[in-house]
Amino acid sequence: MSIEKNIHATQKQMRDAAERAHRSLEDIRLIAVTKSVSPETAQEVVNQGVFHLAENRPDKLAEKQETLTDERIKWHYIGSLQTRKVKQVINRIDYFHALDRLSLAQEINKRAEKVIPCFVQVNVAGEEQKHGISPDALLDFIQELKVFPNIQVIGLMTMAPNTSDDVIRATFSGLKKAQQQVETLHLPYAPCHELSMGMSHDFVIAIEEGATDVRVGTKLFATDS
Ligand SMILES: *Cc1c(COP(=O)(O)O)cnc(C)c1O
Repeated sequence: MSIEKNIHATQKQMRDAAERAHRSLEDIRLIAVTKSVSPETAQEVVNQGVFHLAENRPDKLAEKQETLTDERIKWHYIGSLQTRKVKQVINRIDYFHALDRLSLAQEINKRAEKVIPCFVQVNVAGEEQKHGISPDALLDFIQELKVFPNIQVIGLMTMAPNTSDDVIRATFSGLKKAQQQVETLHLPYAPCHELSMGMSHDFVIAIEEGATDVRVGTKLFATDS
């Protein structure tokens, strides 16, 4: 399949999932994860009208941005980020998906030249090897972000374990519950309306459970022919 066909197939699955969940497709954004492809290949999704791109390494982000200069592109950073690398990244991106500790928030706040829309990463499934705030600690963490004027919590992000659909679905619905709890706090710096969840193998379930941002790589770029 070509990248064009992959995009169409993905968008159709998104539309079908949204319909099943009685949601509007307009409320769901496809983010193309370009981390494993060349800038030239990434340009192909832009040519197809996909303008939200995600990277997870500071050097790769900079490399992509040299080639991909369309001003409609919005850049998402989805990887765990070392505190000392914040300054290389934070003023190059439009969205940050991996806010998972106060020291990182502090450094982002210090280095950012404007308010950065952030997703707080939550380790819903409690997997040891995964980054993210535990759901129990989330509300306290969000309250503590109040002192950082350059951080706007627009939503929550999670990665589901690669297991059964039931566990994946429970993870996503858990994130939705957490998001609703934050929303009810009505914090001006943490409106928290969005849910960044779902990757190539589980974005359909994520949309059924309320995802507003799906991060899809392999499914868009695999061209097995
Ligand atoms: C790589 C990555 C994705 C995309 O994964 P695919 O399985 O290739 O769709 C999504 N989110 C994060 C955080 C990633 O690191």
